[in-house]
Amino acid sequence: MKKIGVLTSGGDSPGMNPAIRAVVRKAIFHNVEVYGIYGGYTGLISGNIKKLELGSVGDIIHRGGTMLHTARCPEFKTPEGQQKGIEQLKAHGIEGLVVIGGDGSYRGARALTQHGYPCIGVPGTIDNDIPGTEVTIGFDTALNTVIDALDKIRDTATSHERTFVIEVMGRDAGDLALYAGLAGGAETILIPEEGYDMAEVTDRLRKGQERGKKHSIIIVAEGVCNGNDFAKQLKEATNFDTRVSVLGHIQRGGSPTAADRVLASRLGARAVELLIEGKGGRAVGIEKNSLVDYDIVEALERKHKLDLDLVKLSKELSI
Ligand code: ADP
Repeated sequence: MKKIGVLTSGGDSPGMNPAIRAVVRKAIFHNVEVYGIYGGYTGLISGNIKKLELGSVGDIIHRGGTMLHTARCPEFKTPEGQQKGIEQLKAHGIEGLVVIGGDGSYRGARALTQHGYPCIGVPGTIDNDIPGTEVTIGFDTALNTVIDALDKIRDTATSHERTFVIEVMGRDAGDLALYAGLAGGAETILIPEEGYDMAEVTDRLRKGQERGKKHSIIIVAEGVCNGNDFAKQLKEATNFDTRVSVLGHIQRGGSPTAADRVLASRLGARAVELLIEGKGGRAVGIEKNSLVDYDIVEALERKHKLDLDLVKLSKELSI
């Protein structure tokens, strides 16, 4: 393989830049040319493709977002759109593609693989919900952003003796809420995998109050309930005076943590190795701190599993 491409797609995550850097530098190290595809699958279809040099990825290792930009591209879900993408890749002489993104982006990479075009999926999402890896690029940074916000909210919650509801991202996966709740000492954590029982939540709050607790922090993953709606329900059930903080898109931004930079570097470089070894149609990941790769079709069929031991521990520690 003498020419490869790289794109970022779907929701951005901090660490995509160090992943792009690793792809470019690893490929050039092995005398392989690299082409950046700008704007995800939209840029692939329209041919927004430029050659990247060593210097193209200088000074990006510490930056959030993605220098290749990202997009959502409904056209790429159609076989015609996918065919247009393959024609662009062929017209540029690009023989293999690294796709950095979430599970939607993996589906695009799977479609290309099924058309016979070699693709490697690299897990980039703050949701930590990609099967075939224990951790995704961006999760650690987003988690630290949430913890920073939570610690600040805790200061005001303590001062005013208030209950706070903090809504974090996570439509289907509760990882961010769970880890943030555990690391931030939240009293209650609501995740999509479990749902919630308002009677249990209020019982827990009341017991805390009886023991003299003056404030409470409740973390709600967006997939369980809208934070404002939850606060209204809580007010109706308890008359507790709550405040709501919806963290929103700040969770997507910021300089990637050291852990995310190292992860991105390892996974990006491994993706290039696989293409050089002639192994297309794979998804790279980390398990027990070792690099792994799975057939991308098989990876998408697996289900991301939340760590149930952590759910149990968070409940034991927040009594
Ligand atoms: P993420 O990668 O963060 O999960 P999306 O779910 O929005 O983000 O997916 C990103 C893009 O991947 C979509 O806009 C689309 O171009 C492509 N994609 C998603 N699902 C498919 C599919 N089933 N087949 C082909 N391409 C897909």
